[in-house]
Amino acid sequence: MQQKISLKLLPSQAATDKAFIENIAKTTGNKASEITGYHILKKSIDARAKIIWINFTVNAFINEPFHKRIFQEFDFPDVSAAAKKVIIIGGGPAGIFAALQLIEQGLKPVILERGKDVRARRRDLAALNREGIINAESNYCFGEGGAGTYSDGKLYTRSTKRGDVNRILNLFVHFGADENILYDAHPHIGTNKLPAIVTSMRTRILDCGGEFHFEKKVSDFVIVKSEMKEVKTSDGDSFPGDFFILATGHSARDIFSLLNKKNIEISAKGFALGVRVEHPQELINSIQYGSNNPAENLLPPASYSLVEQVEGRGVFSFCMCPGGIIAPASTNEDELVVNGWSPSKRNNPYANSGMVVQVEKDDVIKYYLQSKKDTPDFNSPLLMMNFQKKVEEKSFNAGGGMFVAPAQRMVDFTEDKVSGSLPGCSYLPGIRSALLKDVLPGFINDKLKTALKAFGKKMPARNKLTNYFTNEAVLVATESRTSSPVRIPRDEAFLNHPQIKNLFPCGEGAGYAGGIVSAAMDGERVAMAIVTNRK
Ligand SMILES: Cc1cc2nc3c(=O)[nH]c(=O)nc-3n(C[C@H](O)[C@H](O)[C@H](O)COP(=O)(O)OP(=O)(O)OC[C@H]3O[C@@H](n4cnc5c(N)ncnc54)[C@H](O)[C@@H]3O)c2cc1C
Repeated sequence: MQQKISLKLLPSQAATDKAFIENIAKTTGNKASEITGYHILKKSIDARAKIIWINFTVNAFINEPFHKRIFQEFDFPDVSAAAKKVIIIGGGPAGIFAALQLIEQGLKPVILERGKDVRARRRDLAALNREGIINAESNYCFGEGGAGTYSDGKLYTRSTKRGDVNRILNLFVHFGADENILYDAHPHIGTNKLPAIVTSMRTRILDCGGEFHFEKKVSDFVIVKSEMKEVKTSDGDSFPGDFFILATGHSARDIFSLLNKKNIEISAKGFALGVRVEHPQELINSIQYGSNNPAENLLPPASYSLVEQVEGRGVFSFCMCPGGIIAPASTNEDELVVNGWSPSKRNNPYANSGMVVQVEKDDVIKYYLQSKKDTPDFNSPLLMMNFQKKVEEKSFNAGGGMFVAPAQRMVDFTEDKVSGSLPGCSYLPGIRSALLKDVLPGFINDKLKTALKAFGKKMPARNKLTNYFTNEAVLVATESRTSSPVRIPRDEAFLNHPQIKNLFPCGEGAGYAGGIVSAAMDGERVAMAIVTNRK
């Protein structure tokens, strides 16, 4: 028979298969020899108290032959002769999952991607990390798989109502991800594994008769009587289609400018801005786990999630990467943006996380009025985008060029003291001591200072090491591409742009997603809206 049971185990009780089976047997009242196998259905770590527990839901096979987990199956038919063609601008998670869904529904997707395929892209990332040379079309944000390919690959989302999270996770497994993402409370793929998964998705799209064109940067739209007829690419090509999905991500500033120039409605949107914080991983482990040592492989490197309200604005940790690396996520020369990733084993000696403040339009207007230097058009839909760019330029200059990032130790930052020395840091282009108050707008700076001190109390010292608020931590500027600074409107029911009946804004860049899974779900949603629309 099969029996679904809950287990609450010490890390040591879950460390080996033998110990695990013994605990299943104890719970079901059987002998260990009677347990022929098991499937883990859910797994989460509870590190809130001194004793750390790992909670499992397990389907145990008792006195019956064990069979392997049966995975969800997907049917991708040949769509090469499909009557309708859907042009997808942007090959990130939103664009790729839209393409897969369209194929399942019998429509032909044509993806136009400004960047290169994952392999060629890797060389451009190496040049950025090692030589400080950026390719504006091929970087951490642009290229096959979008910002998702060389991302951290954390696959949890709070947007569970926007689509079928389980289906997205099953698709990832179908294309090569480890099955543990199906049951882990905080599923994570890791940067080293994502490129192969993305390649396998592209291969399937091509095998089914879809198209995936690289180095095709869409630079113009041809619209006749409220209908998109074709898009033009910067190399002079044009791509006609029946439907168009715009899934260009939060960093496609040229697309936002093009929409604005063509009087296609967009609006300024709030986003979050701040720094990336890096601590020694050992310190975060000691705070979160006390004397339990992840080095014994019983527990994964510890993570954290922090939030504090300061003067009506949320200050929160973002995209925390245990055992991770801080990455240069800029898309242009003269702009410095950081983000974070980690390999599947999360085995680097540092723990990094974005530490950002929610920024609304009012904050930015007040900032410009107080600074009295610039007077931008406060009604411009590009107000927030231009503000974001301005902070990124300041950061680039403060680092002195070549994507060296301005940095400050945490306590020094709160005391406006230049750090005399900086600790080791995972950011490969290098860091340079600077006063971050000269980079960040005052209202961000002040809220970060208050929140960091509060986070020291929320994550107190254990094992004679220090708490979260420590000069062992370094702040690296700036974390600015947290979500899109622009929203592209769409009809609530049909999901098309209100002015253009066959243009479908999609994913993070349009303001409908934040992260890989929610972008993928939005891609699927838009694809289904097109399928329904066609009928
Ligand atoms: C370093 C890093 C780590 C991250 N870690 C995580 C994580 O752990 N978990 C998580 O959920 N999210 C993470 N993210 C965020 C996540 O990658 C994004 O939320 C997600 O990729 C958004 O998907 P998207 O398809 O909407 O847009 P994008 O992924 O931004 O894709 C947009 C695509 O459009 C292309 N494009 C832009 N303009 C044009 C044009 N004019 N013509 C043709 N193509 C164009 C771009 O090249 C890009 O490939 C991370 C991001 C980075 C940079």
